[in-house]
Amino acid sequence: MVENDIGPRIGAHKSIAKSIDLAVDRGVQSTCECLQIFTRPPRRWDVPQLSPEATQNFVQKSRAANYYDTAIHMPYLPNLASPDDTLFEKSVKVLHEEVEKMVLLQVPYVITHLGSPKNQDERFAAKRVADALNRVREYIKDPSMILLENSTAKRKKWGNKIEHFEKILGHVQEEQYVGICLDTAHAYSSGYDISTSEGLNEVIDLIEAQIGKDKLRLIHINDSKGKLGSGIDHHEHIGKGYIGLDCFRELMQNPRFKRLPMILETPKDDNICDKENLELLRRLRSGE
Ligand SMILES: [Zn+2]
Ligand SMILES: [Zn+2]
Repeated sequence: MVENDIGPRIGAHKSIAKSIDLAVDRGVQSTCECLQIFTRPPRRWDVPQLSPEATQNFVQKSRAANYYDTAIHMPYLPNLASPDDTLFEKSVKVLHEEVEKMVLLQVPYVITHLGSPKNQDERFAAKRVADALNRVREYIKDPSMILLENSTAKRKKWGNKIEHFEKILGHVQEEQYVGICLDTAHAYSSGYDISTSEGLNEVIDLIEAQIGKDKLRLIHINDSKGKLGSGIDHHEHIGKGYIGLDCFRELMQNPRFKRLPMILETPKDDNICDKENLELLRRLRSGE
């Protein structure tokens, strides 16, 4: 983790359409300082391998763009908490593949949601996810990590609370390879009121106290279309949702967040683009 003098690095999730290295070009065009990608279509199981040429171009372009903390987001179909053995094994296989791509693409993070244990309890879910993490551990190279992302989980009631992460880590054999990705929209719609600077800092204090001081590695910086505790997972442009600007100003200005990459997952529509959200965040970062 390298500190940025002016504050946290800010970037966005970018498409890999046509070739994975084009995600870097798209990031540069949108003025991203850091990047997140899928390495494959997120709603498919069977996907083509990355070509050596595209992989090499991705690494070279990332170096030129100074993207040294890129995150790979896991596709959506795997469920690392699934009680169904077949689905669980398939999910571990995808996690393994993404960890291997993390090595090939020379990026430090794979981000995964915790999935759903369906009719099983939290204890089962924590052990199941930890089992998946332990099984891919040998393929992770220092200092890379798997980051567990908090979700909005109204019905499933799993993966949306800080204590769920604590429980998983209790079953992980080598904790140093596992960190946390906090999604602001998911936290808010799960009932964590981060709309004020005090509220945000309380939640971060809680993460540090329950999980560890250096565990939070990346923030998904999204406003929320869903109200506090609504369980609605709809991301909104920065400052346009229920979380509001105070939270994002605090993220941009408080030195405790300086070392963290922050990634926009705001809607991709014609209305407001990543570049505009980043411009707003830069204004907040510079003291507005
Ligand atoms: Zn996610
Ligand atoms: Zn997210």
